[in-house]
Amino acid sequence: MRRKLVAGNWKMNGGLAANAVLVADVKAGLAAIGGQADVAVCVPAPYLAQVQAAVAGSALALGAQDVSAYASGAYTGEVSAGMLVEFACKYAIVGHSERRAYHGETDALVAAKAVAALKSGLTPIVCVGETLAEREAGQTDAVVGRQVDAVLAVLDVAEVARIVVAYEPVWAIGTGKTATPEMAQDVHAKLRGKLAAKNAAAAAKVQILYGGSMKPDNAKELLAMSDIDGGLIGGAALKAVDFLAIVQAAQGN
Ligand code: PEP
Repeated sequence: MRRKLVAGNWKMNGGLAANAVLVADVKAGLAAIGGQADVAVCVPAPYLAQVQAAVAGSALALGAQDVSAYASGAYTGEVSAGMLVEFACKYAIVGHSERRAYHGETDALVAAKAVAALKSGLTPIVCVGETLAEREAGQTDAVVGRQVDAVLAVLDVAEVARIVVAYEPVWAIGTGKTATPEMAQDVHAKLRGKLAAKNAAAAAKVQILYGGSMKPDNAKELLAMSDIDGGLIGGAALKAVDFLAIVQAAQGN
């Protein structure tokens, strides 16, 4: 049985005062509901130190929203995996559709970032997902298959067990539109098949998250599907009460 993972993606939101309240409320809520799920928040880089201190000793893990493919050097504006580890990050999102769309990240760059994360001991949350035009053209399987294959191609067989995958249909991110549980399950099962082709034992263990307007009112149905192992949560991660409700849905209560 895979543990569920609920990871918040704050995107470019927050501030010192608001973060302190949000993390305190999430921590208090987690302590009250108990912890059968993995829970993390992926915060903007300037707030890593603040949130590292705030989550210390709690069940809440820390993640970054991106990581450089390079270890160090003349890469202005980038943050290396080694730096993230210094701030006790456990996770780094790679290949979020907003990075692919607004920063021109290619499948090859996303794969290199996943490798850089793994080499430093981080767990990359590898995001894949099709646009609305691609879904309507019947290309969903081909697009997400290509995106995940690009990462699998550069991983050692053993490294497959150390990644998290997030299926995030681009048309569902921040739009209020959600894939139906059946639509998401179909893609998740195919993604697990891709992982299994490289390492069957690992594929059974890898957490495959759904992301795209997951909210308290739709989380339970999505998280009930056999290959949906958690959520990558954008908007709803900014409200402790909503985020905690999704954690509770992941824990089946
Ligand atoms: C995301 O940013 O990864 C995301 C899923 O956003 P939202 O939940 O707001 O759709």
